[in-house]
Amino acid sequence: MAAGGLSRSERKAAERVRRLREEQQRERLRQVSRILRKAAAERSAEEGRLLAESEDLVSELQGRRRRREGLKRRQEEVCDDPEELRRKVQELASAVRNAKHLVVYTGAGISTAASIPDYRGPNGVWTLLQKGKTVSAADLSEAEPTLTHMSIARLQEQKLVQHVVSQNCDGLHLRSGLPRTAISELHGNMYIEVCTTCTPNREYVRVFDVTERTALHRHQTGRTCHKCGAQLRDTIVHFGERGILGQPLNWEAATQAASKADTILCLGSSLKVLKKYPRLWCMTKPPNRRPKLYIVNLQWTPKDDWAVLKLHGKCDDVMRLLMEELGLEIPPYNRVLWGKSITSFNQRVQELRIPSPSGPGNSCGRTQSSPWRFPCAPRKKAAIVGSHCAEAQRRLHLGTPMPR
Ligand SMILES: [Zn+2]
Repeated sequence: MAAGGLSRSERKAAERVRRLREEQQRERLRQVSRILRKAAAERSAEEGRLLAESEDLVSELQGRRRRREGLKRRQEEVCDDPEELRRKVQELASAVRNAKHLVVYTGAGISTAASIPDYRGPNGVWTLLQKGKTVSAADLSEAEPTLTHMSIARLQEQKLVQHVVSQNCDGLHLRSGLPRTAISELHGNMYIEVCTTCTPNREYVRVFDVTERTALHRHQTGRTCHKCGAQLRDTIVHFGERGILGQPLNWEAATQAASKADTILCLGSSLKVLKKYPRLWCMTKPPNRRPKLYIVNLQWTPKDDWAVLKLHGKCDDVMRLLMEELGLEIPPYNRVLWGKSITSFNQRVQELRIPSPSGPGNSCGRTQSSPWRFPCAPRKKAAIVGSHCAEAQRRLHLGTPMPR
């Protein structure tokens, strides 16, 4: 007699029974699932009986189906028809006119027209990589602000928008002419590196991607501060990191803006990361005192149920219509304006006009006015083929799930 009081043959018999029962359950599941796929009218009396006898299985299978369909719907892009979109934009325009303190939250979706791939959309970096597809290259350094960026800059200039909070690291808000004080780049800016040894921190705004040699927990860019000689660091906040820099993250202004906001307009953000920052949503206020939420996105977002209006349209289409409704012209992009906006904000900020670290006639990327060092190396494209994918994702649209 073996331990447990059962003989070897008894244990084997019990195992056989257990397996047989499992196989019967699996078969039943397959049968019920097959029957459920049929229209009710096409089911035989016997099939109807089987369903009635398998209530638990039926409800489990129906639950699974609902979850599957829900997930699928969340991935789908939905477009309002032109008339519907125009009607919604009129409503949005009225909200913009009447808002006392309007804050705009932006995400990857506003940069897609600048040839910067969206992150989670059907043609986004993440989705394509999930499907095992290659992602086409895009040179971020040459990306220009989109119609949406330019419209936001104009709205801010007209004092219709008080602050912009962006998840994007592509620096396009800054290029659009938006003043530094009016923006919080929560996940950093891939064109800005800082010296944290200097007090206050000394910022260097570049015309090239400074993150070529940086990574998670490794932020030194390889260049040094021309004032004190210390290593410069990038400003990027990676998944799992907490943003500690004052600028360009500007959390203080973001929090202040959110607390004063009576209206929030979310443009092209999946809000999956932003929703994790309770300070941006005034969740401590009672629901009727929280800002009114307007969301522009082709896909579902986790804040849809809170929104007073959800516009299913491309950001550029919505912003074009909105500016028309408001009777405002959208300024063209002007690189010179970008430079002026940077230098006028802060004398410490140095705009270095360097085409690229390995540009023609400038192999080490040095200028007379900025004697920083750069170890010569071929410049990587900022996106995105094969093994560079993860790196490119990291640079393009970073999120930090650390709650603020
Ligand atoms: Zn320094």
